[in-house]
Amino acid sequence: MLSQIKDLAEQLAPRLIEIRRHFHSHPELSGEEYQTAAYVAGVLSSCGVHVREGVAKTGVIGELVGQGEDDGWLAIRTDMDALPIAERTDLEYASQKADVMHACGHDVHATVGLGTAMVLSQLKETLPGNVRFLFQPAEEIAQGAGWMVKDGAMEKVKGIFGLHVFPTIPAGSVGIRHGALTAAADDLEIIIQGESGHGARPHQAIDAIWIASQVITTLQQAISRTHNPLRPVVLTIGQITGGRAPNVIADTVKLLGTVRSLHPDTHAELPGWIEQIVAGVCQMYGAKYHLNYRRGVPSVQNDPIMNQALESAAVEAWGSDRVQILPEPSLGAEDFSLYLEHAPGSMFRLGVGHRDKPNYPLHHPQFSIDESAIVTGVVTLAYAACKYWQLP
Ligand SMILES: [Zn+2]
Ligand SMILES: [Zn+2]
Repeated sequence: MLSQIKDLAEQLAPRLIEIRRHFHSHPELSGEEYQTAAYVAGVLSSCGVHVREGVAKTGVIGELVGQGEDDGWLAIRTDMDALPIAERTDLEYASQKADVMHACGHDVHATVGLGTAMVLSQLKETLPGNVRFLFQPAEEIAQGAGWMVKDGAMEKVKGIFGLHVFPTIPAGSVGIRHGALTAAADDLEIIIQGESGHGARPHQAIDAIWIASQVITTLQQAISRTHNPLRPVVLTIGQITGGRAPNVIADTVKLLGTVRSLHPDTHAELPGWIEQIVAGVCQMYGAKYHLNYRRGVPSVQNDPIMNQALESAAVEAWGSDRVQILPEPSLGAEDFSLYLEHAPGSMFRLGVGHRDKPNYPLHHPQFSIDESAIVTGVVTLAYAACKYWQLP
């Protein structure tokens, strides 16, 4: 099966590069992936995959029924949205849309999803189980996965694979991570309410700027003293607003931040922990507060069995020297984790790094990829799908 998959993927390579360049030239922002979705649906239909359009508004689901007894599905998720970034590459297929760019490689993900569907559809007679392809909108705003789940994407799904391109891994290699891959990311809003007064007479006022600075300092000090240091957590206040004039004591200060953690227990205790500190500091100095802690996405925790299918597929396909076992997770976030609330899964990193020119990070206006990685992604996923259905 592996050699058939490799041959098919190699034959498809020129077409896949053409598809990827089309997506790259025509990027669409989160929740606006109308043209991309229509293109995806067209390619899926042309290779005999059953298509559902309008899932999560601009998402697409493709279903390929295999030969197994099991009526469950293996899902393969790829995302399709671009970013509000003005592209600064000199590629001939650079973005044709001002200030919108595929700078996170979701053009590659969607192409790899299509390539995997094209390859597996040609192996339908021997495909050992059913495969559902999820083409998800709005990953960059961490909303699309939730919308897809709500629209039934995970019904009868028993396992799920996903991928993300990575420029620091060379094209031709893949990265596998055991355990946590990405962090839980939540949003934080704290409003401190004091009382205004003359800058010369602080004792007649309640200084919200000073109290806000105490809140920030206490949060940053306590985070290192009250959480298990083996379970990382990062709190960043990225925005402060408040005050009207140099000689007027501010009555209101608003703090906005992000909170990242890896362990589910830490994630669970964070809102209560933050509230305790904010309440304690405000009470000490007579201020009132309003805390709005918004849960974002949980941490992506790769499942050992799903990982095994991916890793063994990748090692057989490429050799162990081209399969990196990633020693560290990332404190970035991924809404792939929302699918994992419904089925075990694994997400791998697809190396897209150039060997002969500089590699720019994800979300950079000069981000680009070595396109040979597309075939690596297709073969890895198509073969992992076959392996999945043969797991004991
Ligand atoms: Zn991104
Ligand atoms: Zn991304």
